[in-house]
Amino acid sequence: MRKIGLIGGMSFESSAVYYKLINEMVREQLGELHSAEVLLHSVDFQTIVDMQKAGLWDEAANRLATVASSLEAAGAGCTLICTNTMHLIADEVQAATSIPLINIIDETAGAIRDAGLKRPLLLATRYTMEHGFYTGRMASHGIDVMVPDADDRTTVHNIIFAELCAGKVLDTSRQALFAVIDRAVANGADSIILGCTEICMILDPENLALPGFDSTRIHACAAVKFALADEACVDRDAA
Ligand code: GLU
Repeated sequence: MRKIGLIGGMSFESSAVYYKLINEMVREQLGELHSAEVLLHSVDFQTIVDMQKAGLWDEAANRLATVASSLEAAGAGCTLICTNTMHLIADEVQAATSIPLINIIDETAGAIRDAGLKRPLLLATRYTMEHGFYTGRMASHGIDVMVPDADDRTTVHNIIFAELCAGKVLDTSRQALFAVIDRAVANGADSIILGCTEICMILDPENLALPGFDSTRIHACAAVKFALADEACVDRDAA
């Protein structure tokens, strides 16, 4: 089994979900008490949030590149940046190692394409919704992402940072996200991307008005597929 290197802590709430999902999928696949070989480097998220707010993306890239190299040196066979937002600097992080970085945008695009869908609503941080790296990379896969309007972007962004990253899951916020989804349905969306690794804490992709794609689960599944080489990732819940 190859070792999975997780660049996590952004936030630790979602890294805990990754850790559990990856291990559950490996146990499901290999049986008995098998679990994954995981190296997790969990950063102090506030330091990253400060860089995001100040637009210090080069500094953030250097920081995560250093983490990626240390995971490679410790024996990781691949790395995952456990946040959609920080894929803004994924190319710089990939360049720092000679092992593959499993890209959450590519994996999510593949899942949407396999389902025959192409106009998903994106629920994510302001950085992911507005900086173009996400929608551009999705477009390169033939996926035409729908971004919420300005008010809805503020709502989603605030729910992520003020609540989910702080471990708070509120029903009022779940209702607010449902309202954002309803407006997207009216505007022609054909699916929903849970494009922030904490959104699965508040929305169940199986219970939405449209097919839901949980980036955390999709990304974790891709890591397991890599770790187990040619064996398929068993993801019973998504099946
Ligand atoms: N985990 C979140 C994401 O998937 C947000 C935290 C961050 O800004 O990195 O984008």
